[in-house]
Amino acid sequence: MRIAMISEHASPLAVLGGVDAGGQNQHVAELSAALAEDGHEVRVYTRRADPDTADEVPLQPGVVVEHVPAGPAAPVPKDGLLPYMGIFGEWLLGRWKHGPWAPDVVHAHFWMSGLAALTARSRYPVPVVVTYHALGTVKRRHQGAADTSPRQRIGYERVIGRQADAVVAQCNDELDEMIALGVPRERINLIPSGVDSAHFTPHGPAAPRGPLARILCVGRLVERKGYADLIRALPAIPKAECVIVGGPPAAELSSEPVARKLTDLAGSVGVAERVRLVGGVSREELPRWYRSADVLACPAWYEPFGLTPLEAMACGVPVVAYAVGGFTDTVVDGVTGHLVPARDHRALASTLRKLLHEPSRLMAYGTAAVDRARSCYSWRRTAEQLGRLYGAVTGREALLSEAVA
Ligand code: UDP
Repeated sequence: MRIAMISEHASPLAVLGGVDAGGQNQHVAELSAALAEDGHEVRVYTRRADPDTADEVPLQPGVVVEHVPAGPAAPVPKDGLLPYMGIFGEWLLGRWKHGPWAPDVVHAHFWMSGLAALTARSRYPVPVVVTYHALGTVKRRHQGAADTSPRQRIGYERVIGRQADAVVAQCNDELDEMIALGVPRERINLIPSGVDSAHFTPHGPAAPRGPLARILCVGRLVERKGYADLIRALPAIPKAECVIVGGPPAAELSSEPVARKLTDLAGSVGVAERVRLVGGVSREELPRWYRSADVLACPAWYEPFGLTPLEAMACGVPVVAYAVGGFTDTVVDGVTGHLVPARDHRALASTLRKLLHEPSRLMAYGTAAVDRARSCYSWRRTAEQLGRLYGAVTGREALLSEAVA
């Protein structure tokens, strides 16, 4: 099947860890690769943010990334991209109508890609599947006035959910949020993301460490990832360090506002010498960091899915997370780690302190974590489930079963 992936702001070619480059980029890259391995032909459409990149870039056999001219050929924060989505959709329409390649199905990632997809579909008949990756209602609830999303976001997300042929929820919490938003239940399909357990493995080199227990955090350097909560918890977790991987390269951290806030906070609560900001690390380097940790902490205020716990689990590292979003599906409390009440840094501290004092429990959780990541979360499985969904929305599955009957 020919699949068009639309990922307006999140290019699968991007370097991860920056403010707008994280899970969605990784998701689109891994999913496209797994679908191509299943024999599908995938084209990923992402906004051109650099005048020097080629129009088309092969990612791997069966996957091509196309750069769409919509808005300036320069980085634009994702919350400033809405005005260009009409042009993005028109460009897709022209390309599919008159170009050498046209999709059987369109899979839009993030609500703005959904808008571009529905714009194209209005004059080009093709089924549209949407994965939101994050919902405006949840962001508004947690970020309030600090939410920089366009004010139309929530309304558009509702319309997209009602007009798409199918919607993908990545976890049970997101499914409930979609129903509350007004997306018809029968159109929602629960299909979690995966992890590459051949890349994220328990065995292999680890980043160097000292005598302190290591609590690791990995993710974009944005406030809602909750690193500040962990730093506030650290005075109550003696003999442990907090290592944060993510954000710009190490040399640029001193001018990064969130990094500066975290450093200031560490100083003011008296743990400056036990907090280390590493900066962004490449996917190739990441397993070394996971393996160097005793535990991964995920103190995000909310999390639509969260790939980092799965990556840590695949490396044999237990996870202590706030009981929010995707964490409540991926982390099994008391088996692969712990879930603690959200925004409660005292509960975070006592859970981490107790766990770090029990090496046998850490080891048992680590072993269970690897099993869970390998048996329940693979991109192969995600691709198979999506392949079936694409078959259903294009009517191919029905044709196939009629032929068999
Ligand atoms: N990541 C990375 N380098 C970094 C920090 C993060 O490659 O320095 C990757 C991380 O491995 C994960 C993704 O960025 O695959 C973050 O995804 P997640 O779903 O945890 O968070 P999101 O970015 O979607 O909020």
